[in-house]
Amino acid sequence: MKKDDCIFCKIANGEIPTNSIYEDEKFRVILDMGPATKGHALILPKEHYANLYELPEDWAAEAMVLAKRMAGSMTEKLGCDGFNLVQNNNPCAGQTVFHFHLHLIPRYENDGQEILWNPTSPSAEELKEIHQILTK
Ligand code: 5GP
Ligand code: ZN
Repeated sequence: MKKDDCIFCKIANGEIPTNSIYEDEKFRVILDMGPATKGHALILPKEHYANLYELPEDWAAEAMVLAKRMAGSMTEKLGCDGFNLVQNNNPCAGQTVFHFHLHLIPRYENDGQEILWNPTSPSAEELKEIHQILTK
């Protein structure tokens, strides 16, 4: 299903022209309009799923296989030194467009970007507690 007021539905399905670098039956890969680095791209499914929670498992599997292939071909073409896959879900996690997308971010030595987090120092007890929550 497509969502009428969703810009990524329109872009993924070719209703709004954009810089596509790959397309198949299910996905389109486009250049991000506000790239973190040279070549930053987005994998968009052509069906509307708001986020990873909504994305069916078979689509998730195909998106990851596509990400692996794109990372390989983009690295070869761009000569980048590394690669980040980033995928945000919900506003608290940085999602601003509510149609699932997977960021493909080529990385270059000294590119000035920080796509990392600040590590915290939980106590052994806190780690045990979270382990219990996640394994019950
Ligand atoms: P999010 O923060 O939701 O994970 O990422 C949204 C991304 O989509 C941002 O990196 C932003 O630059 C990109 N973006 C938003 N609107 C458009 C658009 O209309 N065209 C393109 N090519 N990228 C967009
Ligand atoms: Zn959509």
